[in-house]
Amino acid sequence: MDFASSKAYISKRKIQKAAPKAEGELSEIQEKCDSDNSLSDAELDQFDGKESKPMEDVEEMKHDKKASCEEKPRGGGLFGAIKSVFSGSKPEAKPEAKPNAIPLVPLAKLPGHQAKRHRQEVDTNIIGFKLSVLKDKTEIATGDAIVCDKCKAMFNIYSILTKEQVWVCEFCNHPNKVVIEEEEMPKSDSLTYVLESAQQSMMKKGGGEDITVMFCIDVSGSMCVTQPVQGAMNLKYNKVKKMQDLMKFSDGSYQYMSGESASLAYISRMQCVQTAIESQLKELAFGAPKRKVGIVTFSNEVTLLGDGRLPPKTFAGDKLNDYEGLIETAQKDAEIYMTKSIEETKDDLIKRLEQIEESGQTALGPGLTVALGIALKGNPGSRVILCTDGLANVGLGSVENLKNAKEVETIKSFYTKLGELAKERGVSVSIISIVSSDCNLEMLSPLADLTEGDIIKVNPINLSNDFATILSENIIATNVELRVKLHKGLTFRNEDQAHVSQDGSLLIRPIGNATDEQELTIEYKIKDSKELDKMTDVDFTKLDRIPFQTQISYINLEGMKCVRLVTKNQSITFEKEEAKKEADYKVISVNAVQQTAKLARKGKLRDAQANAMHWKNMMKGSEEYANYVGNSEPLYNAMQHQQQVMYMAQPVPSGFGGVGGVGGVGGVGGVGGVGRVGGVPVQYHDDVVYNMNQATRMNQRKMAKK
Ligand SMILES: [Zn+2]
Repeated sequence: MDFASSKAYISKRKIQKAAPKAEGELSEIQEKCDSDNSLSDAELDQFDGKESKPMEDVEEMKHDKKASCEEKPRGGGLFGAIKSVFSGSKPEAKPEAKPNAIPLVPLAKLPGHQAKRHRQEVDTNIIGFKLSVLKDKTEIATGDAIVCDKCKAMFNIYSILTKEQVWVCEFCNHPNKVVIEEEEMPKSDSLTYVLESAQQSMMKKGGGEDITVMFCIDVSGSMCVTQPVQGAMNLKYNKVKKMQDLMKFSDGSYQYMSGESASLAYISRMQCVQTAIESQLKELAFGAPKRKVGIVTFSNEVTLLGDGRLPPKTFAGDKLNDYEGLIETAQKDAEIYMTKSIEETKDDLIKRLEQIEESGQTALGPGLTVALGIALKGNPGSRVILCTDGLANVGLGSVENLKNAKEVETIKSFYTKLGELAKERGVSVSIISIVSSDCNLEMLSPLADLTEGDIIKVNPINLSNDFATILSENIIATNVELRVKLHKGLTFRNEDQAHVSQDGSLLIRPIGNATDEQELTIEYKIKDSKELDKMTDVDFTKLDRIPFQTQISYINLEGMKCVRLVTKNQSITFEKEEAKKEADYKVISVNAVQQTAKLARKGKLRDAQANAMHWKNMMKGSEEYANYVGNSEPLYNAMQHQQQVMYMAQPVPSGFGGVGGVGGVGGVGGVGGVGRVGGVPVQYHDDVVYNMNQATRMNQRKMAKK
């Protein structure tokens, strides 16, 4: 547990028991917020406080137009349509802006906008949890954990046992009759209970070294889109014939853009992927030789290359719509196609990789199902890495031409089902989307979000780095559940109430996979005075310390089911500023970024922006300020654009002549929720989805790196 301040802040206002009741609305708001700062909508329109600035869209690949393949034009759906409306009609569009960049429009000025002030409680009452602690060796507790009958706190090093064997719970004051032997008394504030040994646990024994890594690769036609690369590049995967075809397709006479030299080579997405995977295979064979590494590709059909030693197996036709069939067959195939580790299979696998040809459509859903089925047979901590540049449009999980909300939901639930299955079995799924294409990441995102996988948007040239980044983050425990126990006078702030119980003092947050870099935060606060008044046995003025406890249950990589119990006794202060003096701004900024992402996921984009801005103001002057702003800005701006799109999806009010031509976009919009256009929900743009995933996974190390 990393406290954002060494002192828990207890608001004086709330503990004045005899506070006069009828002070009117203002005092009520103040009690709820305990802060005088509120933000206007206009203040939320610019995160960096500067003039509006174009979105940092990744530069459209210049050469896209010359592509010879059957890639269908994708205008980026609604978002793309709105983009052009905006850049064409709003004065904010600066002439020097890239063609694809759109200006940030102040929402406060848009018609139909309802002004609102945004209040929020911001203080140092934050706790961070680094899940890497699960790797640490601690004292192993003997016997079973002793749990308070009333509030579910666990007996710990700070608990006091009377001679009569009564434990008065330090969290809720409930007297528990307990039987504890002297040797069972906790001797450390951090200990591990082993609930089930590896044999009893359902999980297979793993070890981290011998996991399965499945590359699930899009080889559809669009993968042959090329882009120029400067200098002598290792063009092993460069196919001469293909290059000639490409030249024919362009104007036929001139291969190079003006100002570019003949040392420029054109390289396709497929070549980039092949090159990147080959280098990963070599690195894995050297650095993690016991891992089983396999490849699944998908276009019109799904091809299982496995570990490369057997001729590939193809899944096609009706099979691509049969979820049960695919997942079962894949698990059986794992026994046949994935038998050897990378130190033995590297050369075979590279040969198979060289033979890959791109063509056809995108059976992404079926491909993913097969890759996941194989990974499920691997040891806990196994990985699937999906690499795609397009929309799923063949077989299961096809996202093309969805007509209504129900169809959208059906497809979303398919990917969520895959994600849940992966999470339960300790497999993580990461998604690499190749830039300058629309992958409908919102549909795919549950896979990564549920399994602690990454979502990465990448220029194909940089793929190798991203594979390496994804593979360097290891799953260290599975089936993780975080429980946080607070003193009965405290409760959680900004938590899903479905996860909170025991009169607001217990939080149960399901996590699933834990990685060695993962960090979680929670916020807490003192309960409202109304509730405190009812507690005759709590007087904060007579306390100088209060206990905090975490109980993390998990299955470790040896297959043992464990609970890590950590208890801390924290001193308190009644002065907000005093708590701030002791502040650890790293924990504060991680929390702020993660809270923003959490609100964005709920569709509360404006609240998410307000959250980001409140914390920004709070952190002003601290050493973390610049890091925080840099880390928050991409998501902040992506949300601003998403809201612009949603505004545009609403019927255009009369008198708003600036934006014409939104014809064809009918239906009712909704800002702050998810709007609908023509009966189909407006989906989050890939930038929002990608940035939400990155923000959720933000930790102190990543904060510092930027
Ligand atoms: Zn208790």
